[in-house]
Amino acid sequence: MTRFPIEEFTSLQTPFYFYDLKLLERTLKEIKRTARDPRFKIHYAIKANANPGILRSIQAAGLGVDCVSGWEIEAATEAGFRGDRIVYAGVGKSDNEIRLGLDMDIECFNVESEPELRIINELASEKNKIAKVAIRVNPNIDAHTHAYITTGLAENKFGITIEQLPEIIAIARELPCVELRGLHFHIGSQITETEPFVMLCETINRLQDEYDKIGVSFATINVGGGLGIDYAHPERHPIPDFESYFMTFHNHLKLRSGQELHFELGRSIVAQCGSLITKVLYIKEGSTKRFAIVDAGMSDLIRPALYNAHHKIENITNPNDDLHHYDVVGPICESSDCFGQGELLPCIKRGDLLALRSAGAYGEIMASRYNCRPFPHSYFSEN
Ligand SMILES: *Cc1c(COP(=O)(O)O)cnc(C)c1O
Repeated sequence: MTRFPIEEFTSLQTPFYFYDLKLLERTLKEIKRTARDPRFKIHYAIKANANPGILRSIQAAGLGVDCVSGWEIEAATEAGFRGDRIVYAGVGKSDNEIRLGLDMDIECFNVESEPELRIINELASEKNKIAKVAIRVNPNIDAHTHAYITTGLAENKFGITIEQLPEIIAIARELPCVELRGLHFHIGSQITETEPFVMLCETINRLQDEYDKIGVSFATINVGGGLGIDYAHPERHPIPDFESYFMTFHNHLKLRSGQELHFELGRSIVAQCGSLITKVLYIKEGSTKRFAIVDAGMSDLIRPALYNAHHKIENITNPNDDLHHYDVVGPICESSDCFGQGELLPCIKRGDLLALRSAGAYGEIMASRYNCRPFPHSYFSEN
């Protein structure tokens, strides 16, 4: 259970992110325990949170890293990740970002289009290098049964369709300065059911069977990330069910001999260890509503405004007072700057501190300076 050192918090400038490093350590330990199949290799999707204090723990735990920009490669390198543990995806890799990846001798470029493949070959050739590549496949997993999957559908910008795959594989095998290592998939985010991952395994099995027949084999299969977390009950489920997640792939995916299975987990590693701590500025009585106006806004945590997401809100100053209904809103001049409507919370007074829970992923990293507000600071639990 995350403990908030309220006494220490009162001297800190709000809003700020607070990270429970003990929980992060426990989460990383649980991943190590449940991903014990030696063929499994875990990469951390750094786009979820690139705070150096967070990266240090993840790097020390022996994970690799999944980047989606050259700047993320730089942040990962600064945090001590070696080039040969960096994989790099993204539909719009610039020439300079590709050159950086080549200079770092990264583990794999996850290629998202034919022209990108040709440019990687060209830039690798200029450096007399062979770039390791995987083809990102868009597996077209049924949208209607799984509406929450947003990146694995046929018509979006990510990856190569299964129909176009044979052609791009043939090109990759011909180009002299790329080495085709594998296939890459990433079907979406905040997936809390097993079924989409089972469907992904079945798609991969089918593809591998087809390629076996024509003598094409892959050293690695990368199934991306997407494992969801429990935003409603961060205390009940502080660590996601990694056991059944990895078991799904263990049971359903038919790996070939010597093949490695790569994962790219972001949210499930860091979301629950972070909270955004904010101070209540005013209680405003409307005609039908009561507003708690806080000093954090969508510039600090944009997920509610951007995705209609909900973070559990706690009054950590007065956790045991009588319950009342509040709309918890930020100071920014947008009506979407709202963290919760009709929230049932222990009586809130000016100066109380609230915690917006499960904010460790896609929180601090997505902060902006909208309204000329400063970026939020971050603090870590002592142990
Ligand atoms: C965002 C992303 C991930 C991580 O997704 P989570 O839902 O945070 O686990 C993994 N792989 C790629 C290619 C991504 O873009």
